[in-house]
Amino acid sequence: MTDSRRHIPRTDALLNDPRLSPLIELMGRGRVKGAVQAAQRRAREGEISPADVPDEVVRSLPGGPREVINATGVLLHTNLGRAPLSAPALDAIRGAAGTTDVEFDLETGRRARRGRAALAALARAVPDAEAVHLVNNNAAALVLAATTLAQGREIVISRGELVEIGDGFRLPDLLASTGARLREVGTTNRTSVADYAAAIGPATGFVLKVHPSNYRIEGFAATPPVGELTGLGVPLVADIGSGLLTPEPLLPDEPDAATWLRAGADLVTASGDKLLGGPQCGLLLGRAEVVERLRRHPLARALRVDKLTLAAVEATLTHAANPAREALAADPAVVRRRAGDLARRLAEAGVKAEAVDTEAAVGGGGAPGVGLPSAAVAVTEDLAGPLRTGDPAVVGRVEGGRCLLDLRAVAPHRDDDLFDAVLAAAVAIGVAACG
Ligand SMILES: *Cc1c(COP(=O)(O)O)cnc(C)c1O
Repeated sequence: MTDSRRHIPRTDALLNDPRLSPLIELMGRGRVKGAVQAAQRRAREGEISPADVPDEVVRSLPGGPREVINATGVLLHTNLGRAPLSAPALDAIRGAAGTTDVEFDLETGRRARRGRAALAALARAVPDAEAVHLVNNNAAALVLAATTLAQGREIVISRGELVEIGDGFRLPDLLASTGARLREVGTTNRTSVADYAAAIGPATGFVLKVHPSNYRIEGFAATPPVGELTGLGVPLVADIGSGLLTPEPLLPDEPDAATWLRAGADLVTASGDKLLGGPQCGLLLGRAEVVERLRRHPLARALRVDKLTLAAVEATLTHAANPAREALAADPAVVRRRAGDLARRLAEAGVKAEAVDTEAAVGGGGAPGVGLPSAAVAVTEDLAGPLRTGDPAVVGRVEGGRCLLDLRAVAPHRDDDLFDAVLAAAVAIGVAACG
């Protein structure tokens, strides 16, 4: 015992152990060091052998994605995985997890079009599209379009639509990485049809229209609507971003695939995990000849979606309801009532809490500047940290010295879990008067 204790690896040696040092960058030094010290303690107490300390550290660090209750008031939070999947989508994923007929026709016993049920559901949802295709995300859809239609050629795009999507990724760089050249036209605030027309020539691959989904240019600003960019003699590719398939009355300024196709876009690209409310994927909808060229390009094979995504897309498209849509359509009066109930229950349990009116946002690249009336439970800012590290984790937003737990993006059936989480966090830091 005394002997083995002497062989417990030292902290600095463990932090430099090649099995553990990569974890420091991923999880933070503090967290790994805490796990190291806990494992050393267990070894000192004889619960594990000193040789097992590194393995114990790896085991004790949290693995896998952890469940988060999204109380940020941002409906589609990219850092929190954007759209939560619907129950039918989850069932579909479970059903598709084993061996399936994803690429096989059970009638004939022959190979079949991969993901044909999901593609058929998408085609049904947007009859204006002659053909549809699915890839890994909207960025992949744009890369496939640029590679197929504009490699070694030019993509004509307005200077007002050179978008940075997030985490330092910029659409212009993404497009240029395919070997296409960007031909920027107009200015940041104003671009005219004549600007596009003047730039079009034999080198043009296509005109790209991008919906500025995470910013707005206001004031002296104008860009031509999609319908005015169709007569230029080159394909028009349009990135709607948020994935609305048809107009959404709650978001009148948000473009949708059907409207832009009808206006004359040859190809529309969108994300599957934003306002559509499905899994991460990229939608490609448009003229049959264009979609077929993309689908047949060798790169398409590297961007294809997996069987679980195909199953979830189909289920999302065939069921109108999903958590993202429900959060978007939530009645503000109901959200306010939920906040009032929660605040009252927390106060009764000895936690200082108050219901307040708030403004939620679509987020995730959708409807910038659109405020959705919402309500939150306001608790002390000191609870923000313990809530984040609780189980389930709760992420709110800290504002004016308070932590606001906005309920619009929280499914109503999670209100009890939220109550339990706040109470547990308050007890943990000793701010619950009783309980
Ligand atoms: C979100 C967004 C993208 C990126 O989509 P991913 O599905 O995350 O790849 C591209 N363009 C626009 C306009 C967007 O809003």
